[in-house]
Amino acid sequence: MKGLKGKNALVTGASSGIGRAIAIRLAQEGVNVAINYRSSPEDAADTAEKMEQACGEIKGCGVKDLLVQGDVSKEDDVSQIMDTVINELGGLDILINNAGIQMESAAHETKIESFDKVISVNLRGAYICAREAIKHFLDGNKKGVIINISSVHEIIPRPCYVSYSVSKGGMGNLTKTLALEYASKGIRVNGIGPGATITPINEAWINDPEEKANVESHIPMGRAGTSEEMAAAVAFLASEEADYITGQTLFIDGGLTLYHDFSKPWSA
Ligand code: NAD
Repeated sequence: MKGLKGKNALVTGASSGIGRAIAIRLAQEGVNVAINYRSSPEDAADTAEKMEQACGEIKGCGVKDLLVQGDVSKEDDVSQIMDTVINELGGLDILINNAGIQMESAAHETKIESFDKVISVNLRGAYICAREAIKHFLDGNKKGVIINISSVHEIIPRPCYVSYSVSKGGMGNLTKTLALEYASKGIRVNGIGPGATITPINEAWINDPEEKANVESHIPMGRAGTSEEMAAAVAFLASEEADYITGQTLFIDGGLTLYHDFSKPWSA
């Protein structure tokens, strides 16, 4: 896609799922990718290997990869991640805020520690990474791109996952606020809102045919999405094809945000 070749990206939480697919897709587009991981260097190395394999199929791809350990919810870790990326890759052009967690419990029984944990990774972590990336973009007077991996739960309430719902709702506003604040500086901030996607975060249902069928029965298009489908939209939003798009969350959800229960009229 236009304008991606030779750029440098940081993908947080890129050792699995959607983050891994984004790293691979960006590499296929000629982007050098820093793979952030929190705890598994083996999984991060696996992402790098898959990036190289995918890239090998494309003539003249030749991108660099870099593994960077760090917990996005910790300010010091994020500073270190950014310094490493900037020193090793020579700068940053694209930040993908992908790292995320979820915890299930009824809202009235949720422990404050678990609420804080989810917010600190999904929302605070995305903000800290964005803040550091923006400082770098402004210092270099360069057009930068930030893409937040949000969720359909940016706009659909999610009972028994109050911290997750709130974190993604907040992420929607983070996207819009940063987009407005830095639009005049050439910095674009957008998000994607995945629907139910086949990744490890959904291990509770992806390998259980009955549970999977139940999830898919709520999706107008009748199936869960793939990480690759999410990554394709991220590549577009990061590219110059999307140069006039900022402050938007693109929902990629097989129609989930169209509310399946309203597919047939039930009121006059
Ligand atoms: P996943 O569990 O495979 O990926 C999450 C990644 O974040 C993991 O690699 C994990 O190690 C990393 N991570 C967690 N805490 C971290 C921290 N403190 N610092 C750095 N990395 C950390 O699941 P996924 O589905 O690929 O999730 C990726 C993103 O997509 C998340 O933000 C998630 O909320 C979002 N999302 C997923 C779905 C879905 O159905 N899979 C739907 C909507 C949104």
